[in-house]
Amino acid sequence: MKVIGLIGGMSWNSTLEYYRIINESFARRLGGLHSARLVLYNLDFDEIQRAQHEGRWDDTVSILVDGGNAVKRAGADFLVICTNTMHKVADDVEQEVGLPLLHIVDVTGDAIRERGLHRVGLLGTRFVMKEPFYQERLRDRFAIELLVPGEDDIDTIHQIIYSELCEGKIKASSRRVCAGIISKLVNKGAEGIVLGCTELPLLIQPGDTDAPIFDTTQLHAEAAVNLALTKG
Ligand code: GLU
Repeated sequence: MKVIGLIGGMSWNSTLEYYRIINESFARRLGGLHSARLVLYNLDFDEIQRAQHEGRWDDTVSILVDGGNAVKRAGADFLVICTNTMHKVADDVEQEVGLPLLHIVDVTGDAIRERGLHRVGLLGTRFVMKEPFYQERLRDRFAIELLVPGEDDIDTIHQIIYSELCEGKIKASSRRVCAGIISKLVNKGAEGIVLGCTELPLLIQPGDTDAPIFDTTQLHAEAAVNLALTKG
């Protein structure tokens, strides 16, 4: 059984979900009192979010590499960065730490293709929805087209993520707002919706839309379990 190396705390509210899902999945698959062999390095999210919003992405690489090296020293066999946004620098982190990294976009792309879908709506932080790193990887590796909300809706979702969800605040009013944004994407032709922020599943539930939901936290955590249980 491989040791999972989680780089978390972005925010801790979703890292808690990774921890729960991974351990529940081990218990379900292996039975009895089985749980995961994992190492978690929890970062200070305030430091990360400041660097993100000031465009200091090189600084975020150094912080994540320190975290990656810590889990490597502690025995991790592979890395899991518990956020979509920070996959903007995932390739640099993987290279500098020298451990294989389970990429959240690849896991999500696999799930979308398994459902036979080709055009999906994307919700996440402004970085995920507007910058090329997320959309290009899904397009180039999986031939998936992404629809993103309009400018005002992008600002609204970004605000909800950083000012509410990352602080553990779950508001019914924000849930309704997000459900409205999802409806607009579905009306524009989205065949499914990617919850491309690891806190969004805390707010949005499958019942909020008839379209298939791709919960990146669940998918990424389950993929980590699959990899940990893979021999060799
Ligand atoms: N956890 C969120 C994500 O999946 C946002 C926090 C962050 O900026 O990393 O993108």
